[in-house]
Amino acid sequence: MKFSGKNVLVTGASKGIGADIAKVLGSYGLKVWINYRSNQDLAIKVKDDIESSGGVASVISFDVSRESEVLDAFKVITDCDGGLSYLVNNAGITNDKLAIRMKNEEFLNVIESNLLSAFIGCREALKLMSKNRFGSVVNISSIVGERGNAGQTNYAASKGGMIAMSKSFAYEGASRNVRFNVVTPGFIDTSMTASLKDDIKDAYIKNIPLGRLGDGVEVANAVAFLLSDNSSYITGEVIRVNGGLYM
Ligand code: NAP
Repeated sequence: MKFSGKNVLVTGASKGIGADIAKVLGSYGLKVWINYRSNQDLAIKVKDDIESSGGVASVISFDVSRESEVLDAFKVITDCDGGLSYLVNNAGITNDKLAIRMKNEEFLNVIESNLLSAFIGCREALKLMSKNRFGSVVNISSIVGERGNAGQTNYAASKGGMIAMSKSFAYEGASRNVRFNVVTPGFIDTSMTASLKDDIKDAYIKNIPLGRLGDGVEVANAVAFLLSDNSSYITGEVIRVNGGLYM
């Protein structure tokens, strides 16, 4: 895959899907900024993995839902690299509960962590990338953002909102050659899904046409394509990486 840009910021890249995205993008020769909130040791391990494969990476700690921290981080990156070519808004949380028991704060907390954070990231990226008339952003939504899920009204709202928001950013960014796309993973083998009970997991797997959980690298490959020059005429699009679970 071909990348005209030089560097990428991947949020929530200390583990799971984000770590795989960081490593795959590092393998294409991009300088990777590995964001984490609390897991510094894991983030440094991702950096070490990229560097031991011949890539270039830096770790940067900030909470994606705190505007001032995001602004500071964007400044550090632009002071160091002179700009930002690519952004992957991957950081996200769940806080599952049936809607009838969910408090407003529990709803809003997930919206802030998953949706407000992506809005801040997209807005700041668009400002920066517009200056160079070049950039590509991928937002990591979820199958749940497309079809909903019991116990996840907060998460579904955040991830569904991310899809509509990305299409709106795609309209605003197009005249400046800044593209916005979305990847909606299905059931991927990470710590987020490891906490599910085995019987629930088995029930999910029975419904997946490809008959297995996905791997983070399989999500990362779709992200790499959407960031790269190979997808230069694609914006406002959603790619599902879910083994056929939702078509
Ligand atoms: P994960 O293993 O729990 O990792 C989440 C990452 O996000 C961690 O690096 C964590 O950093 C970071 N993070 C969380 N909140 C943050 C914040 N406020 N600021 C900065 N970083 C923050 O999750 P995952 O399974 O890889 O999921 C990654 C993304 O894919 C999420 O957006 C998730 O919704 C989406 N997704 C996952 C699946 C799946 O099956 N796993 C399916 C569909 C969509 P620290 O640990 O350092 O705090």
